[in-house]
Amino acid sequence: MLQLTGGWIEVIAGVMFSGKSEELMRRVRRAVIARRKVQVFKSHLDDRYQGLLAVSSHDGRSVAAVPVDSSTQIATRVDPTAHVIAIDEAQFLDAGIVALATSFAQRGRRVILAGTDTDFRGEPFGPMPELMAVAEVVDKLHAICVLCGAPACRNQRLIDGEPAAWDSPLIMVGGSETYEARCRACHIVRRRDEAQRSLAIGC
Ligand code: ADP
Ligand code: ZN
Repeated sequence: MLQLTGGWIEVIAGVMFSGKSEELMRRVRRAVIARRKVQVFKSHLDDRYQGLLAVSSHDGRSVAAVPVDSSTQIATRVDPTAHVIAIDEAQFLDAGIVALATSFAQRGRRVILAGTDTDFRGEPFGPMPELMAVAEVVDKLHAICVLCGAPACRNQRLIDGEPAAWDSPLIMVGGSETYEARCRACHIVRRRDEAQRSLAIGC
């Protein structure tokens, strides 16, 4: 890791199951051990995660994650005395997170953002590309492809067990939706070629 001083931005990017949350928590735990004041935010926090995201150190200090839906909520809820601001699931946040992370870094904060950098189509996800561009440090993690065992860099979306189509609805009503980590070669997006061709000719 570079020796950085003042404020800076770190991005932990990668597919689902690549260990982004584990890595974020590792960095948060170490910052707590270093007696830095840490605040953790998580977008789309559901009940299952609340226990997992209470991070504690051996000296008994702990940090709970604050659930947020937008960059404005982070701006409102941020602790002005925090040295380290960690944000998980950053891909779901709005574009305002880029300016907000930048302003935290400019005011001397260490900002750590973890997020999935590509969506189920294999295309850049939300604010992740811009966050990766403005960050001082970017780590891209890989999972293991469930089909061939290669490093996985794609999220395979399955609807009722079948690869989802490029234009499948973002929110599923009925039907069961699951995700798998896959490599580029094993990643299937049905109707991608047709969709991209019709976008190119504007119809
Ligand atoms: P992320 O935040 O990137 O979704 P997590 O930190 O929540 O990842 O989970 C990473 C853990 O997921 C790994 O340590 C491993 O135990 C587990 N895991 C499940 N499926 C896979 C896979 N296909 N490749 C790698 N790890 C996997
Ligand atoms: Zn594969």
